[in-house]
Formats: sequence, C-alpha cells, structure tokens
Amino acid sequence: MTPVGQRRLRTDAVHPPHLATMAVRVGQSPDLSDIHCEGLALTASYLFEDAEDAAEKFASRRQGNVYIRFHNPTTAAFEQRLAAMEGAEAAIAVGSGMAAYLTIGMALFKAGDHVILGDGMFGTTYRLFGSYLDRFGVASTVVDMSDLDQCKAAIRPTTVMMVLETPTNPVLQVADLSALAGWAEEHGILLTVDNTLCTPVLQNPISFGADLVVHSAGKYIDGQGRCGGGIVAGGGALIERLRDVLRAAGPSLSPFNSWILLKSLETLPIRMRAHSEHAQKIALRLQAHPAITRVYYTGLPNHPQHDLACAQQTGHGGLISFAVSGDRVQAWRVIDRLELISNTTNIGDTKSMITHPYSTTHGRLPPGQKAEAGITENMLRLSVGLEDPDDVFEDLSRALDHSRLQAVDSRIGSADAR
Ligand SMILES: *Cc1c(COP(=O)(O)O)cnc(C)c1O
Repeated sequence: MTPVGQRRLRTDAVHPPHLATMAVRVGQSPDLSDIHCEGLALTASYLFEDAEDAAEKFASRRQGNVYIRFHNPTTAAFEQRLAAMEGAEAAIAVGSGMAAYLTIGMALFKAGDHVILGDGMFGTTYRLFGSYLDRFGVASTVVDMSDLDQCKAAIRPTTVMMVLETPTNPVLQVADLSALAGWAEEHGILLTVDNTLCTPVLQNPISFGADLVVHSAGKYIDGQGRCGGGIVAGGGALIERLRDVLRAAGPSLSPFNSWILLKSLETLPIRMRAHSEHAQKIALRLQAHPAITRVYYTGLPNHPQHDLACAQQTGHGGLISFAVSGDRVQAWRVIDRLELISNTTNIGDTKSMITHPYSTTHGRLPPGQKAEAGITENMLRLSVGLEDPDDVFEDLSRALDHSRLQAVDSRIGSADAR
C-alpha cells in the first residue's frame, strides 16, 4: 500500500515550481518504514486520503491521525510500550505528571464527588486537589494509607477514587496494594497508584488490582533529567475517557519528549536494577556512619515495611533518605560540602542528586504537617544515580565527616564559652 503522504505529496504538480514552493515541498519523504530506530514524527497535522477520509477521521468513525493535540505516532508508540510494560490495556501520555492528575480529574470527576488521598504523596498533588479541584466541587480527604480503618472511615457515598503513592517520597512508606485494591473494589471506587518511584520495572500496581497507574515520566523513565512528561496506564475504556480530555483541553506531550521517553524505556530495566543495586550498597554504608541517626530505604531489613516492599516490588529503587545527627545546620552543611553529588531537587537521573526536603520540596507545608509526614529538619534525600557507588559514598562520607567535626568543634566552642 502506498503511504498516504507519498501518494499525495507531489513536487511536480506545478511546472516549474517557484523557489518558495520548492522551499516548502521538495525533499519531504513521509515514508519512514525502513528506518530501524523509532521515528520522531515532528508534525502538527496529518494528510488525509481524500475529503471523506478527513470527515471519517474527524468524527472518530475511522482510526487514524488527525491533529497534534491528540494524535502523534511517536507518542502512540511511547503509550503502547509503557502500557505493555505496566500490563495495562492502554496508556495516554500527557505533558507532565501533574497534567496526568489533571486529566484524570477532568475525565472522571464531577462536582460533588469525593476522593481519598494517601498520605506522604508528592506535595503538588495535594495542591492540585486542595486548591483547584476543590474549587470545582471535588472534595478530598487525606488518610494514613497504612491504616485500612482510616480509609474505611473516610469513605462517603460520593467517594469515587482513592489515589496513593508507594513508596512515598521522601520517607519511603509502603502501601499494601492488594489490601487497598480489594477494599476499593468492594466499595466500587477506583484505585489510582502513582508508580513514579518504582516504574513498571520494579512494581506493577495493576497486577495487584489498581485501576490506573500514573507516572511523572521525567523522573526514572527519562532517567537522564532531559525532559518532562506524564503518562497514565489502565483499562481501555478509562483511558479513552482521558483521551477525550486531551482532545478537549490539550495537556499534550510534545512528540520530541515522547521520542526521548520511548527510547528511554529500552534501557529502563537495566537502569532500575543498577539504581537499586547502587542504592542498596550506599544505604548499608550510610547506616554504619557515625554522623547518621536514621536511614530510610525499603531495601534495609530494618525498614518497618521491608517485607511488604519485598512482596510487591522486585527491587527497592534509587531513593534513600537519611537523618544526620544535629539539625538543619548540619544537614545543610553536608549538602554544601558535597563535590560530586548535585544539589538539585529532581529524582531519577543518572547523576546522583541531594536535597533538603524540609526547606525545598516540602517547604510550603506548615511545620505541623511536616512533623506528621515525618519530614524532619535533619533529613536529606538522596537520589542515587549511576556513577560508581563507591565514588558517591566517598563524596557523602567526606561531607558527613566534615559536618560531624564542625559539630564537635562548635560543642567544644560553646563549652569554652561557659
Ligand atoms: C515529580 C512527581 C510528580 C509530578 O510530576 P511532574 O512531571 O513534575 O508534573 C508526581 N508524582 C511523583 C511521585 C513525582 O515524583
């Protein structure tokens, strides 16, 4: 079959073409069928076979690409690949992780509905629900997701969905996916799981009964800190409803970002294994360091939910949090003494990155809520990259030793003053 574009695109339609016509029409080959690497379809619109074809596709009576806002072959390839990896029927890519939540909200909620949110989620998710969806009449309640009784108590006749993250960031609390999915099904509410931290490589929420899976694709899926993106995977009928929102409201992903993310999925399995392996080594060594009072990592046997994490994840990922002895001053001092690890608030990059959640990612939370979430002033969050873990630890260890020595110095100093 002749590709549509090849039959329709003619450079000899006028004799001879003028320069401006040649500038626009010569050299365009839409047939990419023999390229080996997935193609990047940078196009805003698509050629139709004939007038009828356009009408049929516009009316969704015939499958095919119509317009960039809701169709792109590179984006479709990313969606199909991620859906397959999550064990989902379908997926829809959008401009960011937050756009994924917004699209879910617009597709599936109406004024008067109620949503239950797990605790410890990405801060902006609460902001979207509390400051925006709330204004459109969608109420939400935050519960301790490890306490099924609290979930049961929060349910209302208008509850339509529970949304949670597991493990959470930065305190790495784990939700029991089977128990929560069973409970949600019993009450006829949808369960949405944010799988950004584990990716489909380490955890498949759908296999435990989740209805929708959300990713901030710019984290581990991209894995190299190059772009933003979001994607939702789930049943075909639900994803179709989200796609209608994409067409009506347009929180679309750029095809260029789709291409990056599509190609990134190819290395995601080996990257996630390496992130997990490096983080495990570093977590064990941090635990033994005298300047550290606590390490949060689900791969450590003393993590309170280690067994649950092992039962539903095939690895523990690249995120570690730890508390240094002292307060904010000591924690900041560690950041400022690092020479290899980057001081930046992202996660899921090949480069190791550190942040002080109390004053950055969670800085806008009132102190009471920080305490409730377990985010202390002496806590640091490390996103372990793919550098040699010995080098990452050496950098950390040097900064920790320095911070500890300074703390000892200042204690001696204050004793002298007395
Ligand atoms: C970053 C993040 C988000 C938000 O995604 P953006 O792509 O930044 O909009 C949502 N959930 C989790 C767990 C995240 O880490």
